Amino acid sequence: RDHRKLGKQLELFTFSKKVGQGLPLWLPNGAALRSRLEDFLKKAQIKAGYEMVVTPHIGQKELYVTSGHYEKYGEDSFQAINTPKENEEFLLKPMNCPHHCEIYNAKPYSYRELPKRYAEFGTVYRYEQSGELHGLTRVRGFTQDDAHIFCMDSQITSECVRFCELLQAIYKDFGFADLKVKFSDRPETRAGDDETWDKAENALLVAIKAADISYSLNPGEGAFYGPKLEFVLTDAIGRDWQCGTLQVDFVLPERLGAYYVDVDGQKKHPVMLHRAVL
Ligand code: ZN
Repeated sequence: RDHRKLGKQLELFTFSKKVGQGLPLWLPNGAALRSRLEDFLKKAQIKAGYEMVVTPHIGQKELYVTSGHYEKYGEDSFQAINTPKENEEFLLKPMNCPHHCEIYNAKPYSYRELPKRYAEFGTVYRYEQSGELHGLTRVRGFTQDDAHIFCMDSQITSECVRFCELLQAIYKDFGFADLKVKFSDRPETRAGDDETWDKAENALLVAIKAADISYSLNPGEGAFYGPKLEFVLTDAIGRDWQCGTLQVDFVLPERLGAYYVDVDGQKKHPVMLHRAVL
């Protein structure tokens, strides 16, 4: 009922004031558990057509300015790391999305090769005030089971349905039978025009219907780049925890210059689906 107590009793993780607040240190028992969990997820995802990737913990500030993450999170993030000689500015990675977009951009793709599904256990860093830190649930550094699917508009529904099936199968394996789903639509501060948001929200609604999942509306809580499904699990004492997410994004592929060559030979932006199971 209190993971902090279990963490101590089972010697899973600890925190050190010398290393820094909100930065978990995984003890041997915890590292072994984590590695089993990663192996399990990796296997399930590879079976579902994902390719595993690895990206660095930092990225140039300019990348996040272009993606829009800096405008949204920059002031409330860890501030830039400067290099001693070349005057470069790096940020600790607050999200993996731009890095995965650059993995996609490493090679030109034709419509025949889509969807591309990249998954990573990506470690990200977010500044949280010390008073807000809480065990492993509110930290300054954590590892996401993150993945991004690059596909054509016509593939959104089938990709979303596939993801919902994968997520439900994994939750079932962990013994979570009940699942609440929230649909979060356009937030007040957002990127992209209304037409793009109409298209993204409609695509996600069609997908939930196709996946035969009931949901409640969570108005204005979408990501700045797209609407979101939130998958909520209930713990032993009835508390809700948002775990998985699925977002439809027409904004970042355009901002970060991602393309594929369509059947008519024209270059088009793929749609990017952001998703996490746990
Ligand atoms: Zn993402």
